[in-house]
Amino acid sequence: MRTVKAVGAVNASDPLVALEIERRDVGPNDVLIDIDYAGICHSDIHTARGEWGAIAYPQVVGHEIVGRVAEVGSAVTKHQVGDLVGVGCQSNSCRECAQCQLGHDQYCLNGNTQTYDSVDADGTITQGGYSEMIVTNEDFVLRIPEGLDAAKTAPLLCAGITLYSPLRHWNAGPGMRVGIVGLGGLGHMGVKLAAAMGAEVTALSRGTAKRDDALAFGAQHYLDTTDAAAMRAAWGTFDLIINTVSAQVKITDYLRLLDVDGTLVLVGAPPEPYSVPAFALIGSRKSLAGSTTGGIAEIQEMLEFCAEHGIHPETELITADADEINAAWQRVMDADVRYRFVIDTNTL
Ligand code: NAP
Ligand code: ZN
Ligand code: ZN
Repeated sequence: MRTVKAVGAVNASDPLVALEIERRDVGPNDVLIDIDYAGICHSDIHTARGEWGAIAYPQVVGHEIVGRVAEVGSAVTKHQVGDLVGVGCQSNSCRECAQCQLGHDQYCLNGNTQTYDSVDADGTITQGGYSEMIVTNEDFVLRIPEGLDAAKTAPLLCAGITLYSPLRHWNAGPGMRVGIVGLGGLGHMGVKLAAAMGAEVTALSRGTAKRDDALAFGAQHYLDTTDAAAMRAAWGTFDLIINTVSAQVKITDYLRLLDVDGTLVLVGAPPEPYSVPAFALIGSRKSLAGSTTGGIAEIQEMLEFCAEHGIHPETELITADADEINAAWQRVMDADVRYRFVIDTNTL
C-alpha cells in the first residue's frame, strides 16, 4: 500500500478538502500511474453531493485521468514505464458476461468497477483522479496517442467518449441532422465530434452567449432554447438529438424537434425522473434512449479519432488547491464553465 495526496469529499455538503488515501500495491496486472491531469465532470458533483444516492465518505472523485506510467506489474504487457496513459469511468469489469464479450464493458451485466465510488475486488471503495497516483488494471488503461496535448486530453476520457459512443451507435454522419443540447463539458465535445463525423450539427443552448463558440466548434446552426418562436420553427427537423443537460429539461420540447423516426438520447443524468407522455412518441414513431460512456476499445478508438482530426476539449487549467476546486465546482453548477476544468494534479 502507498499513501497519496488527494482532494475529496468528507460528506455530502461540506467543501472538498485535502486528504490522504491508500493505493493498493501494484499487482501482476496493474499499472501505477503518476497522475498529471484530472478533468472535472458534473458526475463528480452529482456523486459527491449524494444527488444520485448515498455514498461512502471520504470520497475522492475524478474519472478523466491522464498521467505517466510509474510502475508496471510483473505480467503487464500493454504499457511501459514512462508511457502517457489515461483512465476513464470504468476501471474493471467481469470480462465474462455477454456485454463484456462484445467489448461493451460499460454495460457489464455483472456491474463494472467504476473508477470511483465502486466496490473494488478487495472490498475497498475505489477512489478517483483528484489525487497524485492511481493503480489500475492494465486492460482499463488507455494509450494517449501522439498528437494529443496531455493537458487538454483528460476530458476525452469521460466527456469525449460519452458523446462519441452514441454518435457512432446512431450513425451520425453526412446527411444526418444532429442536435446537441447543453453546451457544457459533454455538449461542446458533442458538437466537435459530430461535426468531425460529417453530420449537420445544431448546438442548442440557453441564450446566445455560447453561439459564436458553438459555430467555431463546427456547428452549422445554433438554436437558443429560450427562444420559443425559434424552437417552434425547428419542430420536426432533427434525426438525432443528444441531451447533455445536468438538470431537468422539458422533455417534450426536445421530442417535438425530432422528425419521424428520430431519436432523443439522454446522457445528462439529473436525479429526478422524467415524465414522458405516450403521445410525444407514438405519433411519429420517435425513440427516447439513453447511453453511458463507451467500452475500453471504443475509448481507444475515440482517442485515435481525436488525434487524427485534431480535436481537443476547451479547457481551463486550475491547481489542486481544494479552494480552487470548490470554486470550479460552483462554476460548473452555475453553468459558468468554458468548457471543462482540468486540475493540474502535480500541484498537490
Ligand atoms: P456541465 O459541464 O455542467 O454541462 C451541463 C450543461 O447543461 C450546462 O452547460 C448548461 O448548458 C446546461 N444546464 C445546466 N443547468 C441547466 C438547467 N437548470 N436548465 C437547462 N440547462 C441547464 O456538465 P457535464 O459534465 O457536461 O455533464 C452533463 C450531465 O451529463 C451531468 O448530469 C452528468 O452527470 C452527465 N454525465 C453522464 C454521462 C453518461 O455516461 N451518460 C457521462 C458524463 C456525464 P447551456 O448553458 O449551454 O444551456
Ligand atoms: Zn464523467
Ligand atoms: Zn461483464
